[in-house]
Amino acid sequence: MSGPNPSGNPNSPAANVAPAAANPSGGVAYSAPARKARRLPTPRVWPLRDYDVYAFLGGNALVIVAMWIRHGNLHELATPAGIVTAIGEIAALYGTYLVLIQLVLMSRSPWLDQVFGQDRLVAAHRWVGFSAIWLLVAHFVFTTVGYGMADGSGPISETFNLLTSYPYVLWSGVGLVLFIIVGITSVRAVRSRASYETWYMIHLYAYLAIALSFLHQLVVGIDFAADPVARIYWIALYVMAIATLLVFRFGHPITISWRHRLRVANVVSEGPDVVSIYLTGRDLDRLPVRAGQWFRLRFITSYGWWRGHPFSISAAPNGRYLRFTVKNLGDYTRLLQGIRVGTSVFVEGPYGVFTGASRTKARVLLIAGGIGITPLRALLEELPAARGNLSLVYRASNENEVVFRNELDELASLRGATVHYLVGRRGSHEMPSDPLDPKALRKIVPDLRDRDIYVCGPAGMMERVLSGLHWLRIPESQIHYERFTF
Ligand SMILES: Cc1cc2nc3c(=O)[nH]c(=O)nc-3n(C[C@H](O)[C@H](O)[C@H](O)COP(=O)(O)OP(=O)(O)OC[C@H]3O[C@@H](n4cnc5c(N)ncnc54)[C@H](O)[C@@H]3O)c2cc1C
Repeated sequence: MSGPNPSGNPNSPAANVAPAAANPSGGVAYSAPARKARRLPTPRVWPLRDYDVYAFLGGNALVIVAMWIRHGNLHELATPAGIVTAIGEIAALYGTYLVLIQLVLMSRSPWLDQVFGQDRLVAAHRWVGFSAIWLLVAHFVFTTVGYGMADGSGPISETFNLLTSYPYVLWSGVGLVLFIIVGITSVRAVRSRASYETWYMIHLYAYLAIALSFLHQLVVGIDFAADPVARIYWIALYVMAIATLLVFRFGHPITISWRHRLRVANVVSEGPDVVSIYLTGRDLDRLPVRAGQWFRLRFITSYGWWRGHPFSISAAPNGRYLRFTVKNLGDYTRLLQGIRVGTSVFVEGPYGVFTGASRTKARVLLIAGGIGITPLRALLEELPAARGNLSLVYRASNENEVVFRNELDELASLRGATVHYLVGRRGSHEMPSDPLDPKALRKIVPDLRDRDIYVCGPAGMMERVLSGLHWLRIPESQIHYERFTF
């Protein structure tokens, strides 16, 4: 492991800094800043808006209810048993539809990433997931009770009857139990007690649940058993969702990793419990990525190949290496502090909309807390800005937490940017009040309202800053943030 890095190592058109040279050991060495611009590819921008997505989803929701009506199911509403059964049928259709939307939400599709960003996708995944499970439970309850009312049997004997006499219903019952387990382990209070990996592994059972419940829909589902057009439509929805998942979740990462063959080229200590990991590989100047984006990294070691963790690039893309800076916050990030040079790395990404592409103003304020500095360090390097238009506010609870101080100062002087370090424990003698509260922030950067503001840091700090920015009535379109927790 090399010693602390005394200099910046950027090479972006904005920062006009030279690429780092490869050192004789195959690692990456630092080079002095130079006035040289280099054009690198940026991720493709898709001609897709949020209302296109909503229109597609809403259109299919209408087709589904129209399909149910077309099959003459309205007549069920004539009797109490029929009404209960109809609720069960509608719940099944929409519950399954939401499950398919879930697959697409988690496909890591660059289209959706560009339109919504991972934060909103993850929030949507959470609520769509819970809604889907409630609807599937409602399907089971209402259908069983409705059939029971029609047959004159109780819910327990009807459940037994359904599970034992209809094809594939038992499988779907197992699928429903798996969905419920996934739902319970996703409730925040339960999830916070389990490690991310345990939660993730349990989550994989959702795929098994989807597979188990598929056939009973086609064979006993009132809308599909006798209507080949409806069956084709339903299968097409499955094919679309699964294809999106396969292409973006598996195909794209395999292609990128194979094409660029990334390896750890250098590991540099940046301070207590923080290392920068430099990855080099083939044709990195052809990898489209922007400052502010992140990759899911899978280090090919005995402890790392089976789990991918998200990390932001901490230096602007330069065509020679990707740099990630990792703070020891748990078991995996602790192991990464000692990752060996030469380790192969499987990557998924780049992801995220925390980039210059979403910028609306000439002036920019970057607000970082702790290790949240990583994407902002890259943005400070890459964002085009006239001298004086770029400011960084960097909050840390003590000096040890401040990483990249030399690099930040060097970049600031190169780019005519300002860096404000706010170091100290909140509530202490030196820092009695929150230095990031809206009034304090406005004092540091008086022209806040005329800037795009990029925020990244610990969850608590982010909530305070974001609500302060709302209090200051900064338009939503000017606020950009990245959360480090899912
Ligand atoms: C978009 C994004 C960018 C990030 N960039 C950086 C960075 O540049 N530098 C840095 O040091 N950290 C970064 N992180 C945080 C980093 O991913 C976690 O600290 C790391 O995964 C913790 O893993 P662990 O096993 O060491 O700790 P754990 O104890 O397992 O987890 C600590 C926290 O990280 C979350 N977490 C753990 N694994 C994952 C995962 N695979 N996906 C999502 N969340 C997870 C957990 O929910 C928990 O809140 C980023 C996170 C995200 C979501």
